[in-house]
Amino acid sequence: MAKYTGPSCRLCRREMMKLFLKGTRCYTEKCAVARRAFPPGQHGQGRSAKLSNYGLQLREKQKVKRIYGVMERQFRRYFGIASKSKGVTGKVLLQLLERRLDNVLFRLMFATSHTQARQIVRHGSVYVNGKRVNIPSFSVRAGDVVEIKGKEGVKKTVRTNMELSKDRGVAPWLQLDADVLKGTVTRLPDRDDIQMPIQEQLIVELYSK
Ligand code: SF4
Repeated sequence: MAKYTGPSCRLCRREMMKLFLKGTRCYTEKCAVARRAFPPGQHGQGRSAKLSNYGLQLREKQKVKRIYGVMERQFRRYFGIASKSKGVTGKVLLQLLERRLDNVLFRLMFATSHTQARQIVRHGSVYVNGKRVNIPSFSVRAGDVVEIKGKEGVKKTVRTNMELSKDRGVAPWLQLDADVLKGTVTRLPDRDDIQMPIQEQLIVELYSK
């Protein structure tokens, strides 16, 4: 799968918000958004040009892709599913992204970034309803139980991550049992559960052209 290999902090600075792409560093004062709160590049500190409607739509799509660490093809696929569903396209799109297993790990504070969450899943330390699942895009359902099992080293990392991420907290649609590193999907996420500043309507408009 194609993967962005450029500087992560640049992406956060472009969106002018913390996207938590670098793990541990994001929780320290070394965070580039905290130190340089202006867009990257030569003209980053100058007067920002007014974006066209298309520019705004494109920016919003890039931001959401970066938040969830999803590449264009997969994002398009989610949009296709959302637009064919009975619900409101933008909301369903965000719900599909939230339900990804790597995101669930991030929301349970088991990982400090989506990249790290994907690594934990790929290494085979994550079990859903008692079965090992090593696919980061696996979509959870209401009632699913997600557990970290296996090597003590992974559990130790997960506990450290929980400590680092405690200010972020656990998403309201998940229930955490920290002692046994277990999370339950109590219900599917609602739009109000997603606190990040996202205007999903702009993405719908972009793809509907
Ligand atoms: Fe870099 Fe993380 Fe801060 Fe983003 S949130 S700028 S990835 S340190």
